[in-house]
Amino acid sequence: MLSSLQRQILGAINSAAGLSRTELAQVCGMSKAAIGGVVREMIDAGYLHESETVNGPGQGRPSVRLMLRPEGAYFIGVSLLQTPAQMALINLQGEIIARAGFTLSREPEALAQNIAHALPDLLEGHTDAAARLIGMGVTLSGFIDENQSTCVQSALLGWRDVPLASLVAAATGLEVFIENDAKALAVSEKRFGQARDLDTFTLVSHGAGIGSAHFIAGRLHRGLHGGAGEIAHCTLELNGTPCRCGKRGCLDTIASLNAIMEMAREENLGLSSLAELEQLASGGSAAAIRILHRAGTALGLAIAQLIQILDPSLILIAHQAGAFGGLLGTVVQQSIETNVLPGFAGLTPVRTFPIDEDTWVRAAASIAAHRFLDGPDNP
Ligand SMILES: [Zn+2]
Repeated sequence: MLSSLQRQILGAINSAAGLSRTELAQVCGMSKAAIGGVVREMIDAGYLHESETVNGPGQGRPSVRLMLRPEGAYFIGVSLLQTPAQMALINLQGEIIARAGFTLSREPEALAQNIAHALPDLLEGHTDAAARLIGMGVTLSGFIDENQSTCVQSALLGWRDVPLASLVAAATGLEVFIENDAKALAVSEKRFGQARDLDTFTLVSHGAGIGSAHFIAGRLHRGLHGGAGEIAHCTLELNGTPCRCGKRGCLDTIASLNAIMEMAREENLGLSSLAELEQLASGGSAAAIRILHRAGTALGLAIAQLIQILDPSLILIAHQAGAFGGLLGTVVQQSIETNVLPGFAGLTPVRTFPIDEDTWVRAAASIAAHRFLDGPDNP
């Protein structure tokens, strides 16, 4: 178990992608001599290593950069978003070392057993990693409690109040935390991705469903009950289409990929993918254009509201490969600009990136890594 100072050191070095002892002493508010002793212990324990010599500005003496040692700690990620479910082993830099798949069961006890049975496959040939394995993160589509231990509700899995973390911990013997998929992806981008050096940013995930999550002042904002950030079920259309959550007119019913494809079915467009819908739209199909406009406008409007409420330094939109390269992506951007208060317009950069096959498992594992590096977000 690391001390809070050791966690602070690991977290600071991770966020900055490397620090000198002098910089680290400043970040931690300690003397260079005092920080030196702790750093030595952490190098000996295999968490840190010394990297290239950096010449300071002016005549300053060269200093050595402290980096996280990738092999210093390992984490397992389990994603319950697809069938078969996916599992991966990552190192302290977020690199995927091994992957495995297993059968997704909606019965929690059986699921925990399936995860435990898949573990030997994942760890085979990785004895060193197994010896330095810290814990496991599990992500799913749903509402997770403030302790990252109980799934309060998941429409996709048909769960209510499932204590999944303790079931999986009992089956595997590992420390386990569970998290909502979008929140886990925000953590992954903060720890290992595009938001490392940002304290305040918002992530929006767009796929079969829609999710969002926020880092505020360097912490994942989970809210009092763990439910902060859910834009999918914010009402965008009064008395609109019934939603699977029980309400009407939620963003999810207008702008998710499922909703877009459902609208295309209702229009009898006879297609099976967003790419085909985009193709129809670019060929002038009024119905295809209308569907993509409606979805993009609603998503942009929801993001504009997030910008006004939170004023983040970046909006990151994670989407399925190719999904934002056509009319949908253009309308989302236009709708954000149109709906943000004029004084705010254009101030918040919006960056889109495609989800790949490793995105969700890395996100899951990053929950365990984030706990290790930073402690709980709601301490
Ligand atoms: Zn809803």
